[in-house]
Amino acid sequence: MTAPQTKRMSVDEAIKLIETADLKTLGKMALDRKKQMHPKGITTFVVDRNINYTNICWVDCKFCAFYTHEKKEDAYILSFEEIDQKIDELLAIGGTQILFQGGVHPKLEIEWYEDLVEHISNKYPQVTIHGFSSIEIDYIANRSKISIREVLSRLKAKGLSSIPGAGAEILSDRVRDIIAPKKHDKDQWLEVHRQAHKLGIKSTATMMYGTVETIREIVEHWDYVRKLQDETGGFRAFIMWSYQSDYTQLKRELPTLTKTTPNQYLRYLAVARLFLDNVPNIQ
Ligand code: SF4
Repeated sequence: MTAPQTKRMSVDEAIKLIETADLKTLGKMALDRKKQMHPKGITTFVVDRNINYTNICWVDCKFCAFYTHEKKEDAYILSFEEIDQKIDELLAIGGTQILFQGGVHPKLEIEWYEDLVEHISNKYPQVTIHGFSSIEIDYIANRSKISIREVLSRLKAKGLSSIPGAGAEILSDRVRDIIAPKKHDKDQWLEVHRQAHKLGIKSTATMMYGTVETIREIVEHWDYVRKLQDETGGFRAFIMWSYQSDYTQLKRELPTLTKTTPNQYLRYLAVARLFLDNVPNIQ
């Protein structure tokens, strides 16, 4: 883990920067911080493929335009053969990693996931399996009547390498109750990542902004991530994106939500780099 700055940025300082600093100054500050954390000046990347093994999901997040329900015509679960084909295509262009996520299927249990991860890691030992968001892991535990720790350690034993930060949205239960009322709360998201890190499974921290959150809630989100990183050191990177409203229930319910702007994105990104002084990479 990268050493924190001498003086840590507080939540209030971060809010003030987002609200009042000019963009060029913010960009310069973030760049200086990046150079300080990565003095060799090397930027790395991974060629990976997102594979969504199912689009069936019971969580019904209002911001999501991807999911469907079990009996719907467009519902699918990929067969192992279809997954293999996607991995073959990834390997053909030199890729090395898959980001593997659903839908949170209401019926699949731990054995199905174990078979899947085992199948991939046996057939493609050279491929890194980065997969299963916190809500999937939490639900597999629930459905299979085992602990989160057991889900993680059984999947790790089959070849799971790391887990994505998806599902963090904004780590505020007020926001979650509006945009994803069936999804687990912020403490449960943090707990899945805590358990993963304790088992030596690295993860990423993400954030989806642009719905009903305040700037304070955005910075508090970073604060939860920073505190957990102090405790475990298990986050490899922070990744953020903005809410895409088309075809979502949230847009139908809140049609007046304004679109986010590039300026906002760059401001958040720059201040995230400054605030998350213990997270090595911003993606
Ligand atoms: S859990 Fe994921 S797939 Fe399911 S509705 Fe929410 S964002 Fe969409």
